[in-house]
Amino acid sequence: MNTLMMRIGTGSDTHRLRPGLPLVIGGVTIRHSKGFQAHSDGDILIHAIIDALLGAMGKGDIGTHFPDTNPRWKNVKSTVMMQAVMSLLHHAGFSIVNLDCTIHAQRPKLAPHIPHMVDILAGHLKISPQQINIKAKTGEQIGFIGREEGMHAQATVLIHQEKTHPGN
Ligand code: MG
Repeated sequence: MNTLMMRIGTGSDTHRLRPGLPLVIGGVTIRHSKGFQAHSDGDILIHAIIDALLGAMGKGDIGTHFPDTNPRWKNVKSTVMMQAVMSLLHHAGFSIVNLDCTIHAQRPKLAPHIPHMVDILAGHLKISPQQINIKAKTGEQIGFIGREEGMHAQATVLIHQEKTHPGN
């Protein structure tokens, strides 16, 4: 008998913006006057997705798997960390049902970049673009997002694992 196990996970991430640094969101480098001040590339969307995947598997968080005290993970691309998490996921027999994300950023306009983000994420997550949804919201010019001091991302992922019970 086959039983289907489904699990859900959420993740979120915030990074500070600084003038002159690269801005990478969802694996896409976006032309802008500011970018993320971070240990790695500061890709808030991928960091949120990593935490959502780890959360769904019940395997802690990004900080325990990729500690910023370990030089191995210094300046490593977030897509590389996400691939490491995907091999954990596949090793445990899980696959992704769908991924839904929200990015909070005052500027620049992210909507034109979303199809590219979806394609990049679909490639790394080995799912179809139809399984991914990304939304972008402004900060309404209030708070740290509205003042363009930082950006925030949220991700929710549903995963499933097909278990075969021999003898049933
Ligand atoms: Mg982060």
